[in-house]
This record gives sequence, structure tokens and C-alpha cells, in this order.
Amino acid sequence: MTAVCPGSFDPITLGHLDIIERSTYIYDRVVVGIADNPSKAELFSLEERLDFTKEALKNLAKVEVLVFRSLLVEFAQEHGAKVIIKGLRAISDFEHEFQMAHLNKRLDNTIETVFLMASPECMFLSSSAVKEIAAYGGNISEFVPSGVEARLADKFLKD
Ligand code: ADP
Repeated sequence: MTAVCPGSFDPITLGHLDIIERSTYIYDRVVVGIADNPSKAELFSLEERLDFTKEALKNLAKVEVLVFRSLLVEFAQEHGAKVIIKGLRAISDFEHEFQMAHLNKRLDNTIETVFLMASPECMFLSSSAVKEIAAYGGNISEFVPSGVEARLADKFLKD
């Protein structure tokens, strides 16, 4: 069975990695979809996000990393996925994810959204928090894969 795991991955964190790795224990194939959403102001370009996300996931044989520009349910349909995997942190994610899951179900009721609870050590981790810490020169080595740490340092040194 194939699952899709969508996100902006701006940048990928150990929280994302945890959810994706745990998905591979449940599903045969996990398609990680990087959203190319022109209305979102991302720190990293699509190419950069694709590059470090692939690098971070290269040891997970069941994982493919692709870009999507369509509706999420269309991306899932295209790849034969009947499951959308989402990570759920503390209470903050619930309302938004609850709405998205129901809207996606209305768009295609054969596709289910499955939530994996964030691991306790990732519960308070987000891409935006990591960017904020990195912008002030803080240590983010415990929060992101090593490739991303170097890229964030580069980004903020240049700016
Ligand atoms: P963010 O929400 O950090 O901006 P994304 O848009 O890339 O990141 O999120 C994609 C998915 O990853 C969402 O389902 C989100 O709940 C999940 N996710 C993000 N960070 C974590 C984390 N620390 N633990 C578990 N799931 C997470």
C-alpha cells in the first residue's frame, strides 16, 4: 500500500523525518510530496528543498521524494495512494488538520488521512521555530539533519 506524506519542508526537520520513517514501517511505499505553493513565502527555493529532503531521506529505501503543484488528493491519485499521512503535534495542529482532512475527504472519499502522533522529543519542533533559532545564530543541530544545519548557517551568514 502506498501513502503520501505532504509538506512544505522549509526546511525538513527531525520531526518530519520521524513521521516519514515511522510511515515506512506501516506502508510499502511512501511518496514524500514537497508542495510548490507560489503563495507561500518560503526561505528555501523548491530546488533547495528537494535537494536537502532527498539527501535526508536517502537511506529510506521505501521513500520517494517528489514535487507537487496540484491539489493534494490529485497528487495522491496520481501515485496510487489511498492514504495521506500527517504528523500531529500538541493541540496546535489539530484544528487545521481536522479541517484539511475533512475537505480532502469531500474531494475524494476513497482517500483517508492517517495521523501519527509526533514523538515526544519532536512535539514542539517546527520548521518556523528552527528558522527563527538559526536566524539568531542558535544551535539547531538537535532539530534538523546535518545537511540542513549547514544550509541554514549559509543562508543566514549571507543575509
Ligand atoms: P510545518 O508544519 O513545520 O511548517 P510542513 O508544512 O512541512 O511543516 O508540515 C508537513 C507535515 O509535517 C504536517 O502534517 C505537520 O504536522 C508535520 N510535522 C511538522 N513538524 C512535525 C513534528 N515536529 N512532529 C511531527 N509532525 C510534524
